[in-house]
Amino acid sequence: MLKLFRFLKPYTLSIAAVLVFVFFQSISELFLPTLMADIVDIGIVTGDTGFILRVGGIMILVAVGGVFCTILGNLLSSRAAMSFGKDLRGRVFAHVQAFSRHEFDQIGTASLITRTTNDITQVQMVLIMILRMMISAPLMFIGGIIMALSRDVQLSVTIVAIIPVIAAVIALIAAKAIPLYKSMQVKLDKLNLVLRENLTGIRVIRAFNRIDQEKKRFNEANLDLTDTAIKVNKILAIVMPALILSLNFTTVAVIWFGSARIDSGHMQVGDLMAFLQYVMLIMFSLIMVSMMFVMIPRASASASRINQVLDAVPGIKDPPRVKTDSGSKGCVEYRDVTFSYPGAEKPAVSNISFSAGPGEVTAIIGGTGSGKSTLFNLMLRFYDLDSGAILLDGVDIRDMTQERLRAKIGYIPQIALLFTGTVAENIRFGKQGATDEEIRHSAAIAQATEFITGMPGGFDAFIAQGGANVSGGQKQRLAIARALVRMPVIYIFDDSFSALDFKTDAMVRAALKKDTGESTVFIIAQRVNTVMTADRIIVLDGGRVAGIGAHKELLESCAVYREIVYSQLSKEEIA
Ligand code: ADP
Ligand code: MG
Repeated sequence: MLKLFRFLKPYTLSIAAVLVFVFFQSISELFLPTLMADIVDIGIVTGDTGFILRVGGIMILVAVGGVFCTILGNLLSSRAAMSFGKDLRGRVFAHVQAFSRHEFDQIGTASLITRTTNDITQVQMVLIMILRMMISAPLMFIGGIIMALSRDVQLSVTIVAIIPVIAAVIALIAAKAIPLYKSMQVKLDKLNLVLRENLTGIRVIRAFNRIDQEKKRFNEANLDLTDTAIKVNKILAIVMPALILSLNFTTVAVIWFGSARIDSGHMQVGDLMAFLQYVMLIMFSLIMVSMMFVMIPRASASASRINQVLDAVPGIKDPPRVKTDSGSKGCVEYRDVTFSYPGAEKPAVSNISFSAGPGEVTAIIGGTGSGKSTLFNLMLRFYDLDSGAILLDGVDIRDMTQERLRAKIGYIPQIALLFTGTVAENIRFGKQGATDEEIRHSAAIAQATEFITGMPGGFDAFIAQGGANVSGGQKQRLAIARALVRMPVIYIFDDSFSALDFKTDAMVRAALKKDTGESTVFIIAQRVNTVMTADRIIVLDGGRVAGIGAHKELLESCAVYREIVYSQLSKEEIA
């Protein structure tokens, strides 16, 4: 947790102020009982009204000053802790943005969410407590003992007797509660995971009538968390009564022995009253310490989970020395590229070599799982290669910044993902500051204008989360428009026409051809119709190249291609 507190630096000043205010608050609390004892023992006993008023006035001043310090201390400490939490969330979020897919898989999306929200809140809460109690607890404890001693040494023995008992209770409880707190965070992760899956998969769950099973799964995770939380709270529930009980016993003992001492003339009534208040102060400081004992381990479990995220080094980093390319033309070259997913037994793609240049359309065809998407995940550098190299305009993609690399590429993913916002905003996602004219133009090429103008509000129509209110084909066309507005030198269409009907598919491709004439275009497709007219067709089979060439050549030379073609087209169409 201390490691996280390095982010407190900007708030050093307000933290110092908090400590000063808390210091004065504690001092005021320490002096009030003494003043009161003076009023009772001197003022009331001698009947000196002037003295009572004078000391009473001082008491009011001290009390008001204490309240003032408390308010300011609380205000500033809350502010510092909340700002710290805000900063930390920002840092975690920014850091996660740089993660490659590998780190996401490692920590898990649900856990990342818990860590950015709940875990940070835990640390934030304990920070407030530390700020408020770090000074006041020891000050009140030690100050209380000193003041009690100054009132009556013999009576102080009662306090000394009770402290070890309380310390033992606190230690016992902390030892029981801490492991439970750690497991609570893990269970919260689990609950988040189930909830997330349920919310995103609600349609599938309904379609398969799995609502009851899913309810059960959620209830299990929910109960699991609840059980642990109840267990922890049962233990904690003992703390307060135990401490109050010992406080009351101490009070009884103090009054018992104190009255005897007053009787024998060793002590005055005011002293006894002050003494009782010091016992309270000492007890309260112990209660504070016990709360810290419980909360700090919990927060430090959270802190280490946060640190785990912050310490994870993104697997894909920009090179220390960037090589500049010979301008953006869009020449792509794969040199003997081999790659396997982390943990996979055999490579997803192996020994792939080809090159493509501006103005050319390269189509990739192959069965599902043959490595088509993987091939372009590599070009976008979502993963790094095992061996070989991918060159863009003559520079290895590992030698350029990821930003420069991705600026060259217009990528239309296999599963079109839209964001909450308007249609125009979703298209503008491709290029910040794109004009309305540009947006309309790319929508037109993607053959999306018609359905967009049909939506309520047209380009200002609202897209629901994940694009739930548009059809698959409409989503794909919006994704195409989003990539087009970028005007990149390289286009990657990952199966982007699969949800379009044949007519729209043909229309989109014809319009694209006009607009992307100078670009390097890659089209991944399952339909022979879509790839037939490409300048170059790459046939993938089990992650390997089964053939490269134009439609006619491949029909003769490549068995895999022939098989695909015969399965889709009739004899007449092929001829
Ligand atoms: P295609 O796009 O041709 O259908 P992919 O390139 O998506 O195929 O997948 C190629 C192979 O890599 C498949 O066998 C698949 O199981 C595996 N694969 C794809 N994505 C991942 C991943 N994130 N982690 C591990 N293996 C993966
Ligand atoms: Mg794919």
